[in-house]
Amino acid sequence: MNSDSSPICFSVVRGQEKAKKLLRRSLAADRIPHAYIFRGPDGVGKSMFARGVAAAVNCHDTSQVEACGVCSSCRKFRSGNHPDILMVSPEKGAIKIGQIRQMARELTYPAYESKMRIVILEDVHTMRREAANSLLKTLEEPPADNLLMSTAEASHGMLSTLTSRCQTVPFSALGFADTVAILTDKGLDTGTAQLLARLSEGSPGKAFLLSKKDIISLWKEVLAVVSDSGIDSHRDVGIVLQLGEKMAALKENIVPLFGLLRIWLRDLLMGKTDLIAFLEGGDIRLKKWNTEQLFARLQAIDQAEKELARNCNRSLVCEVLLFRLQ
Ligand SMILES: [Zn+2]
Repeated sequence: MNSDSSPICFSVVRGQEKAKKLLRRSLAADRIPHAYIFRGPDGVGKSMFARGVAAAVNCHDTSQVEACGVCSSCRKFRSGNHPDILMVSPEKGAIKIGQIRQMARELTYPAYESKMRIVILEDVHTMRREAANSLLKTLEEPPADNLLMSTAEASHGMLSTLTSRCQTVPFSALGFADTVAILTDKGLDTGTAQLLARLSEGSPGKAFLLSKKDIISLWKEVLAVVSDSGIDSHRDVGIVLQLGEKMAALKENIVPLFGLLRIWLRDLLMGKTDLIAFLEGGDIRLKKWNTEQLFARLQAIDQAEKELARNCNRSLVCEVLLFRLQ
């Protein structure tokens, strides 16, 4: 098997040259710290990268830095049955204290068969304080021959005490071309891939989420209704109310939709109008808003988001927002 095409190599992650260089150097010198934290935007390959490093650390083929993909350790890892590689992922949106305690218990035993036991903690920024404190205790007195790799979203106010006990590896948003390439590799047509790459701001993970949940199609509808000068919200109340209901039906995916509306308004503030080309029926007459009007619309989105966080009636919040966006 060609290890370059093996999904357990961290080099298959697109971009992230800084992280690759750093890890290649540490692995080649066999100087691995007891804890890494991979920090960067959501959906840019941090978990995939951590899995590649985990496979590489325990691979039996020492002639290369990356995992060979064929030794017994790599085969077990690929099948998801490696006894010394543990994945801890958020449950219902957060890593819980019980998961950290269980992980700490397992770390007190030696690895079954490998050089190192490896724990991959996904999205540690989702931890509440008590879970984070529990993880800190483990990081303060790291049991020997264990490697903890955490991933965290960059913009999140991470506990600095946590990052100070780990070696931080920075991850960044991908370029437009890399994002489009990942999306087309997964079978999306070029036009959709380009739109998603543009809206996901270099996060293929986010792009896939947007493509799956009808968020993009609804975003297009909202844009068409609120920016078309041919639609008068006072006259065409029915259209607006119907659209509000559709938005409300997105439930927790309203927030990513709001994110897209922000990108569109921010673009208009900067004088960029290319997104409108992605709307069907390019014959709509666009409304022209000045800076003040654009800021008012951005504020309306902030306000709607706050109201949703306070559990206000979802349909009502969306309807009011649509009227304020017009
Ligand atoms: Zn191997």
